[in-house]
Amino acid sequence: MENVIIIGTGCAGFTAAIYTGRANLNPLILSGNQPGGQLTTTTEVENFPGFPNGIMGPELMMNMQQQAEKFGARIEYTLVSSVEKTAEGHFDIKTEDGTVYQARSVIIATGASPRHLGLPNEKGLIGHGLTSCATCDGAFYRNVPVCVIGGGDSACEEASFLTKFASTVYLIHRRDTLRASKIMADRALANPKIKPIWNSTVSEYLTDEKGEVRAVTLENLVTGEKNELELKCVFVAIGHVPNAGFLGELVDKDENGYILQTEGTRTKTTGLFAAGDVADHVYRQAITAAGQGCAAALEAERYLADIGVH
Ligand SMILES: Cc1cc2nc3c(=O)[nH]c(=O)nc-3n(C[C@H](O)[C@H](O)[C@H](O)COP(=O)(O)OP(=O)(O)OC[C@H]3O[C@@H](n4cnc5c(N)ncnc54)[C@H](O)[C@@H]3O)c2cc1C
Repeated sequence: MENVIIIGTGCAGFTAAIYTGRANLNPLILSGNQPGGQLTTTTEVENFPGFPNGIMGPELMMNMQQQAEKFGARIEYTLVSSVEKTAEGHFDIKTEDGTVYQARSVIIATGASPRHLGLPNEKGLIGHGLTSCATCDGAFYRNVPVCVIGGGDSACEEASFLTKFASTVYLIHRRDTLRASKIMADRALANPKIKPIWNSTVSEYLTDEKGEVRAVTLENLVTGEKNELELKCVFVAIGHVPNAGFLGELVDKDENGYILQTEGTRTKTTGLFAAGDVADHVYRQAITAAGQGCAAALEAERYLADIGVH
């Protein structure tokens, strides 16, 4: 029986592992399909404290992994398919290959995957002129045109934020009105740098000789007309999918599927904690995920002490 199993190896999971490892709890981490989490899909990270010259996303995650392993964390490269709480009060964690792990406490750090359009070359362009995070990547695109795809609150917020850097922000939306709340929509549309493109979608990403995005093909969904639009970066803001489907009734979720924490990082199930983007639709940053990973580890440690594990 494990003291603590951490599901997910992003910033939240590795930070939880560093803390539970240093507390001699000998944590086991189950990595899922994306070892190192979302930051492994990006290039330079400029806003993680402690790196005045920035650090490449994959390197930052490798450092976190080494730090966790230094304190005894073990990693299994496997995908969790279900978690159940037994009548005896521990957790059975089943993975895709049929293995069942048992743990006294569990930290869920499975993140939220950004939705994409599903275009053929999309995945390979992430970090090369395609991203889902204006806060993270906006500052790389100064005085050049960019676009935001989407029409909700996030799309409007991202577009407004990007006007600090970009020369023009095209806001590309499938319909002829924004889905966002009135205040967000009004603010975006009143900004002279934001140019809405209505009834349209992006049907193709076009790249330059270095493989970076240089333009998109816009398709008008009413007329079927296609046009090329030159820009340097596409910000896809059509939502995120929290990776919490395998938890069944063990957690309550909000209307978008994010785990609801009860107090701190606790969930409605005693001994089950949630940290990072899987429970945070507001900040979605590496440092906030790491902070929650720390909090979840401290809370799991206290819970284990309460049930007699020291
Ligand atoms: C392109 C891009 C650039 C970004 N740039 C920045 C930046 O510059 N600065 C910044 O602060 N933030 C940035 N972010 C946001 C940042 O990456 C996230 O906020 C952060 O990674 C969230 O950490 P997390 O640990 O909650 O989840 P994630 O990093 O999403 O990690 C989730 C982990 O859970 C695992 N997992 C999922 N499902 C299962 C399962 N069923 N079983 C087992 N494991 C599972 C995955 O394999 C993964 O290891 C960026 C995000 C993207 C996409």
